[in-house]
Amino acid sequence: MNYEEIIRLDREHVWHPCTQEKDHERLPPIAIERGEGSYLVTARGERIIDAVSSWWVNLFGHNHPRLNRALLEQSQRIAHHIFAGFTHEPAVKLAHRLCERAPGKLNRVFFADNGSAAVEVALKMSFQYWQQSGKPGKTRFVSLTEAYHGETLGALAVSGCELYRKTYQPILMQGFSVQGPDCYRCPYGLHRDQCDAPCFEHMERTLAAHHREIAAVIIEPLIQAAAGMRIHPPIYLKKLRALCDHYQVHYIADEIAVGFGRTGRFFANEHAGTAPDILCLSKGITGGYLPLSVALTTDEIYHGFYDDYTTLKAFLHSHSYTGNPLACALAVEVMNIFDEEDILGGLEPRMDMLEAARARFEAHPHVGEMRRCGLVAAIEMVESKEEKRGYPWQQRRGYRFYQEALKRGALLRPLGNVIYFMPPLNIPQDVLARVLDIAWDCLEDITRES
Ligand code: PMP
Repeated sequence: MNYEEIIRLDREHVWHPCTQEKDHERLPPIAIERGEGSYLVTARGERIIDAVSSWWVNLFGHNHPRLNRALLEQSQRIAHHIFAGFTHEPAVKLAHRLCERAPGKLNRVFFADNGSAAVEVALKMSFQYWQQSGKPGKTRFVSLTEAYHGETLGALAVSGCELYRKTYQPILMQGFSVQGPDCYRCPYGLHRDQCDAPCFEHMERTLAAHHREIAAVIIEPLIQAAAGMRIHPPIYLKKLRALCDHYQVHYIADEIAVGFGRTGRFFANEHAGTAPDILCLSKGITGGYLPLSVALTTDEIYHGFYDDYTTLKAFLHSHSYTGNPLACALAVEVMNIFDEEDILGGLEPRMDMLEAARARFEAHPHVGEMRRCGLVAAIEMVESKEEKRGYPWQQRRGYRFYQEALKRGALLRPLGNVIYFMPPLNIPQDVLARVLDIAWDCLEDITRES
């Protein structure tokens, strides 16, 4: 098919995610034919740097020889089989490796097939655990303002991004929304590198008042990603762990976006020395090849479900593609690559480059803050630096930035007024330098326009 035919058929039949389709009248979707490392290559042969790891999934670049081989080898055995009553080597290997690597006593792996599904699993698991462990009053969940945990109704109910949630409010379960950390606009006038997270008082108050009805607190550790890469300090997690222990409330860590090295450590919780009761993982787990997710939990929670069938305590959750062998084989190879290619060690020079760019970006009159955690960095564009006032959303500066960046050969898909970088962990340094240059040029253009 030629390029025009692909786009014609797309426009006739396809409905894209998270998109106002009318925008495609002016900027049609871009047809991708293949990938090469950090680059997407269009069906016309143009090369675009994938600086957002294709929605944060791609870890080691596209078309990776080791991942290609793992996929091919597994496909020659079996692509998929039912996972209830059956098991397979890639799944058990992956479960073993994840439990070895995970913090604390996480020792059981429940498989699902996308991030939102893992969040649903975690919520249901926590809820049911308390139902059959003598505390049936624990039925509600606590989450942070601006949180993002997925699009299915349960995950949306514990999300705080109004943009995605508001329409569905009447059909969402009711929980407790706690004011989350907002370090750039810190109401206490502190800086995230030095503070003791006094903003945790909101969480303390909510749990003190309602812990008897609370099953779990769910948060995105260190980076509230969809909120605009809002970064908070590890002390927040330490406090959360202690509070959850105190009140017998589960701590669910959604490391779907931040797990697998994004923060500079394998898991974000390692920065705080904390371990959740349930850990949700997805996205990078297969290196960005296939959908897969897991919820890791403790033997204690697992044993809350373990009994004779007739007690009806089993966790009866399932998805058709649970434990998909192709995805698991990829995930095992991802773990191998981390171990054998010192991926985390290789982050240092790349993190240094982002750090070095910070002074330059922060000196810009329309950059409020450039924040960074690991290989994730974000630039918050503001209309007024003094007032920390963002541009009105109707101006769609971020979207305009996205269009400009594409013209210059980079995929930078901002979140509102926030431009962020979440490149593959092994992005070549010259390519990362090019991304930063493109971002600078776009910033100049976009903030100059009225
Ligand atoms: N949790 C977090 C922190 C996420 O960033 C996302 C996806 N952006 C999800 C959950 C949902 O994952 P999925 O899109 O695979 O359903």
